[in-house]
Amino acid sequence: MARVYNFSAGPSMMPESVLKKAAAEMLDYAGSGQSVMEMSHRSKIYGTIIEGCEAVLRELLGVPDNYKVMFLQGGASTQFAMVPLNFMKTGKADYIVTGQWAKKAYQEAGKYGDAKAAASSADKTFTYIPKVTPDIIRQDADYVHVCYNNTIYGTHYNTLPDVGNVPLIADMSSCIMSEAVDVTKFAAIYAGAQKNIGPAGLVVAIVREDMLGEVREGTPTMLDYRIHADNGSMYNTPPAYSIYICKLILEWIRDEIGGLDKMNELNKYKSGMFYDYLDNSNMFSGTVVKEDRSLMNIPFVTGNEELDKKFVKAAEAAGFVNLKGHRTVGGMRASIYNAMPVEGVEKLIDFMKDFEKNN
Ligand SMILES: *Cc1c(COP(=O)(O)O)cnc(C)c1O
Repeated sequence: MARVYNFSAGPSMMPESVLKKAAAEMLDYAGSGQSVMEMSHRSKIYGTIIEGCEAVLRELLGVPDNYKVMFLQGGASTQFAMVPLNFMKTGKADYIVTGQWAKKAYQEAGKYGDAKAAASSADKTFTYIPKVTPDIIRQDADYVHVCYNNTIYGTHYNTLPDVGNVPLIADMSSCIMSEAVDVTKFAAIYAGAQKNIGPAGLVVAIVREDMLGEVREGTPTMLDYRIHADNGSMYNTPPAYSIYICKLILEWIRDEIGGLDKMNELNKYKSGMFYDYLDNSNMFSGTVVKEDRSLMNIPFVTGNEELDKKFVKAAEAAGFVNLKGHRTVGGMRASIYNAMPVEGVEKLIDFMKDFEKNN
């Protein structure tokens, strides 16, 4: 069986060693005589999994003690509602609109209060990150929401947005664990797992304790961070198997890669190679301004729709799958998350060089 190089924006590739470990432990986890999927989430042995997962996450990201880590469900999209339900205390929040996910978060918040698009890069099809300075932010807003890495458009905040004293909340779904971040600069961080840290559905939320006050009246129990924080993500049955896979992936980053700085070096190496090729190609070019380029998602075009289609088809046949750009932007996109091996990128570049020669 040949595994393909999957350049999908998500769900995406997982480290092969993780998949093998999960396979080896499928029928009998650590001598328990059962699969992780079958065991009680309240059992002692499962306790070691969820607590272990949180411990590695805290260790890798340097999460301070005054932050809660929660393992939730419903994907990152559920967070678009949880954030305003929990944090829009006075009813006012600012959003930086840098793409489709940022826009969805902004629109969802509008259901609950006065959500303002403080800045947007829609004027240039989201190919850059707008400058964020305190003067464009309502300083009495409850929070500012940013999408730290824009999965569809391939932009990333390469410098921290400066929002003054307003709590900063970030959707890091497509860049979590790809680089070290200073958690103390954020009031809350959330990430759907399916790009860098696990199966779809699981969401990690990291919330500073002082943010966990009163929630909006009528907030469903399951959407109240305090409930999950107070119950160690065990208010109800957590996505137990997904948390187990998340733990294995985080351990892979720690033990096989060597931590987030090493992970980031590797990501810079892989994406650097790809951007260099695009910058020197006569056929392919990147679509994003250089200073805001993402290490994870790289959109590119030939400038000819027919040729784009031909390329995607030929790539697929050669084992490079899911290179088609998002349905709203067209062209191509190579998502090269943490688990994409270096040779996957090298081989794709070789394939593109050949394609360029023959077309
Ligand atoms: C994928 C993604 C989402 C949506 O995640 P779901 O788990 O499908 O809800 C939200 N934000 C960003 C930045 C994403 O990349």
